[in-house]
Amino acid sequence: MIVTPNIKLGAYRGEKMGRIVVLDENMVNMIAAGEVIERPASVVKELVENSIDAGATKITVAVEDGGRKLISVTDNGCGMDAEDLVCAFEPHTTSKIKTSDDLRAISTLGFRGEALASIASVAQVKGASRTKDQLAGHLIEIDCGSKSEIMPMSADIGTTIAIRDIFYKLPARRKFLKSANTEMAHIVEQFTRIALANTSIELALVHNGRDVYRLTAEQGIRSRIAELFGPEIADGLLETESEEKGLHIIAYLGRPAIAATSNRLQFIFLNSRFIRDKFISHAIKEAYRGSIDPSRFPAAFLFIQMPYEDYDVNVHPTKIEVRFYNANLVHSQILACIREKLLATDLDTMATAPQVHGPGILGDTARMAVPRNRITEAMEEFFKRHRPAGQRHLDFNDARYSSLPSASLGTGDTRTSIEHRASKFMQVHDSFIVAEDDEGFVIIDQHALHERITYEYLKKRVTNNPLESQKLLVPESIQLTKAQMDILENSSGLIEKLGIELVPFGPKTMAIQAFPILLAKAEPADFLRDLIDVLAEKGATLDSDGLLDEVLHMAACKAAIKAGQKLTDGEIEQLLADKETVEHSSHCPHGRPAAIKFTLTELEKQFKRT
Ligand code: ADP
Ligand code: MG
Repeated sequence: MIVTPNIKLGAYRGEKMGRIVVLDENMVNMIAAGEVIERPASVVKELVENSIDAGATKITVAVEDGGRKLISVTDNGCGMDAEDLVCAFEPHTTSKIKTSDDLRAISTLGFRGEALASIASVAQVKGASRTKDQLAGHLIEIDCGSKSEIMPMSADIGTTIAIRDIFYKLPARRKFLKSANTEMAHIVEQFTRIALANTSIELALVHNGRDVYRLTAEQGIRSRIAELFGPEIADGLLETESEEKGLHIIAYLGRPAIAATSNRLQFIFLNSRFIRDKFISHAIKEAYRGSIDPSRFPAAFLFIQMPYEDYDVNVHPTKIEVRFYNANLVHSQILACIREKLLATDLDTMATAPQVHGPGILGDTARMAVPRNRITEAMEEFFKRHRPAGQRHLDFNDARYSSLPSASLGTGDTRTSIEHRASKFMQVHDSFIVAEDDEGFVIIDQHALHERITYEYLKKRVTNNPLESQKLLVPESIQLTKAQMDILENSSGLIEKLGIELVPFGPKTMAIQAFPILLAKAEPADFLRDLIDVLAEKGATLDSDGLLDEVLHMAACKAAIKAGQKLTDGEIEQLLADKETVEHSSHCPHGRPAAIKFTLTELEKQFKRT
């Protein structure tokens, strides 16, 4: 058999290379193992996938010491006879390609028939199996590539593969294994991915003899998510589906309140395989933009079906990354599908006042006796009493507010409106502003509103002239990669428009000399890094207007006051005044509501006064 191992030659470049030797087979397997078998979790993945391919409906994964000592996978699948059991551990053997038609599967599904051979080359392996046609099963043992004779043994129908002491003859690789806890965390992650993609299979994970998960089959995805992550994650998930141009998407979306600080609650499956994909992650992030803090990650479980011909799985050794031939389509369709659902739902900000069940404590007569204007009075009284103490004048010198465009957007005199509503608002939890209006009251998300105002203002300004900038007292230098320098160079027009002045300061350093006044709140170097990220991600897909818009969104978000920031009365008054002058101000730039109205009529209905 001719094997052409895929060895990286980079390390030898420029040196005299040794004589060419033909690698023995086990060495080839070990090299292949390096690609596919990174750690115990990779073994779990390969073994469980084989069990699924074998048609198992029940799979148990038992590990010891985070898989460093033992990984054993037992299934009730089709099993192997003696001959197949020997073959299974040979390199480049697979039962999954039989006809020339199946050959296509090599490129589409990535069967390579080398997982078992690779694993057996780096550990002590026992494989036991029995098919339904056999009365007894067989056992084979392999120690780092050297096989025992095949032995008969009693066994249930199905297969058990047990891996002991992974990498024990490869101290360099063994050393790279992390603590049992860390390795176990990786195993749980792999197990979780497989469990989400295969809800019809009963799955168990056991660590050091104790159950970690015991998942019931056929209960549907929501129930599986609940078993894996708890009901508080599963219950509130929004479900949506879209089918267009051969792309079928089913999404389960978390409400903003359960967004995490990492992407640990994001799972993307393509034709039932877990994948990681920058485009799709970005689409998810975009869809939630404005509704969660940009540093957080929404929970999202995405199940995508599309023709195998439309993407390439052979770009990553473990097939975890794919290349979409039409990545833009995938991106835009996922974005649209999620965004539509989120917009239609109004999320946490739905104006659902608490439901009152049964007659109120006051009884019917008392309820009816309260005339409508008394409610208005009561509200006025409430807001008066609960107004925070503090200065009443407009405080334009406050640094936190200095970037807020004040009264500069509209044509009308905003002063009037400031005076008009000066006395009826309050800030709650340093995040929301409750303000009375003619029909009832509004609850305003201070960050979302200010982001909207800032965005409109930036946009208005930048279309006419470059943004006004200010020389930095001490130019700030920033280290960049060659690729980042190129991005900046290619976007020099846009950077100029923003009012950012950059000077090369060495082959990989730029100095920021001037920075837009409106973005004074942002850290220049920090801002520039994010700007480069946006340009890198969007530069290729958007035209110059679209790109500028994207950058302005990013800038507005960074420059806007944050949730949790205490505002003075003056600042609140300014915000309310500017709200009037910005069109569509009831939504932040990305469609999330910035303000929710409660009308008196609605309140009266809720309190059963009508
Ligand atoms: P691949 O999965 O790419 O075919 P593997 O090295 O993972 O390559 O497996 C080699 C072959 O061993 C499979 O094609 C299959 O025929 C057989 N095999 C492996 N695991 C099982 C199992 N749990 N049950 C039945 N057959 C199996
Ligand atoms: Mg396999």
